Amino acid sequence: MDKIVSLCRRRGFVFPSSEIYGGLGSTYDYGHYGVLMKNHIRSAWLREMVQERDDIVAIDSAIILNPAVWEASGHVAGFSDPLIDCRTCKLRFRADRLEDAHCGKKPSKRPGETSECDLTEPRQFNLMFQTQVGAMEDASSSAYLRPETAQGIFINFKNVLQLARRKPPFGIAQVGKSFRNEITPGNFLFRVREFEQMEMEYFVPPDEAEKWYRYWVEKRYAWYTNLGVRESMLRIREHDENERSHYSSGTSDIEYQYPIGWQELEGIANRGDFDLTQHTKASGTKLEFVGQEGERYTPYVIEPAVSIERIFVAMLCDAYDEEVVGERERTVLHLHPQVAPVKAAVLPLVPRDEGMSTRARTLFEELRRRHTVEHDDSGQIGRRYRRQDEIGTPWAFTIDDRTLEDETVTVRDRDSLSQERLPISGVAAWLDDALQREWRSPKK
Ligand code: ATP
Repeated sequence: MDKIVSLCRRRGFVFPSSEIYGGLGSTYDYGHYGVLMKNHIRSAWLREMVQERDDIVAIDSAIILNPAVWEASGHVAGFSDPLIDCRTCKLRFRADRLEDAHCGKKPSKRPGETSECDLTEPRQFNLMFQTQVGAMEDASSSAYLRPETAQGIFINFKNVLQLARRKPPFGIAQVGKSFRNEITPGNFLFRVREFEQMEMEYFVPPDEAEKWYRYWVEKRYAWYTNLGVRESMLRIREHDENERSHYSSGTSDIEYQYPIGWQELEGIANRGDFDLTQHTKASGTKLEFVGQEGERYTPYVIEPAVSIERIFVAMLCDAYDEEVVGERERTVLHLHPQVAPVKAAVLPLVPRDEGMSTRARTLFEELRRRHTVEHDDSGQIGRRYRRQDEIGTPWAFTIDDRTLEDETVTVRDRDSLSQERLPISGVAAWLDDALQREWRSPKK
């Protein structure tokens, strides 16, 4: 993980937030390449989950909702972690994660393992951030930053049913920031206090819930492998009854083997009719489906939920490699072209040469209208290639002496390092085509 963190910082993907003020625990800011990569991940998810489907629509609900939403959903009463304090070192630990924690005095030991440790009994700590709405600071003005996007979907169920004229099975998808006051954050972006969730609630007739649950587990797993994540680093882990929420009849995690071990990347749950029933009871508005023949029922819901942050880290870990090419070492990100921040670089071999520089600039202007591309004319060509390898740019188009003679360019492939010649007039179409091709990681 240290190598990923250092690459992210060095190349301006991600830096600690508020750094000039000493930072703020587990909060990060994204630089240019980080923003581009996040945009590509979000677009790939929205394309698969909304754009290419007849049965799923998008929504963007508010971050601060009526606090009654969180009462009804069970978050006020139950969205908490059990915490233990150590009276000696004054550190706080999650009672269910003690085996991963380190004693404040002797970091090689677990909390409670030394005679000096003085641990309290576990206490429940709610993870929601509280805030005030309006000018008055009293109980009636208190509200929460949403800890998940899902509830903003459930409370809009009726609007979508009526206005988008849907009937089960249909889904509502949302991407947006969620906030959790995590107590044991760390491991870079894996567990942060502010993250961008991508959730989809799929409403189905109750007797079809099991079928759709299985469907979404498979579908979501395939999304990762289609985006080049290696199958050897992914697995599906089904929760047993003790681990599941009381209302869920099936929950599976898609796990990735992060440098910190196998961990949840995405969760897929069959939530039954719990959410719609709770909001019906608490709001007095019936959240149910009524068919043309008068049949009525409360749909069950299947929820795939993930954060861009966990995908971002998994994809970077999966892509990172150090190789020796010729006599030189290179650091390379073998990212799927669809998520690579920059799709191609345009490089004039001799920037001082007016013919090369003009052609490079013209090609760059043409390509940038369609894709995120870069023009780089500083430093030796080998160094420019390595800079692009390090940020995962799949292809580089080099304008050289031959271009001036026959109007062709060299295209260099990041993974195979092969080079071929293309007519400069065909580069844009070639790139469009290359971005649609299937891609598999060359890493073992
Ligand atoms: P964990 O057990 O790891 O805390 P969770 O089961 O509480 O996760 P969910 O509430 O199911 O997570 O959230 C759905 C998804 O949101 C997770 O699969 C993960 O991708 C993402 N997520 C949850 N908490 C965080 C966080 N603190 N930082 C980044 N992503 C998160």
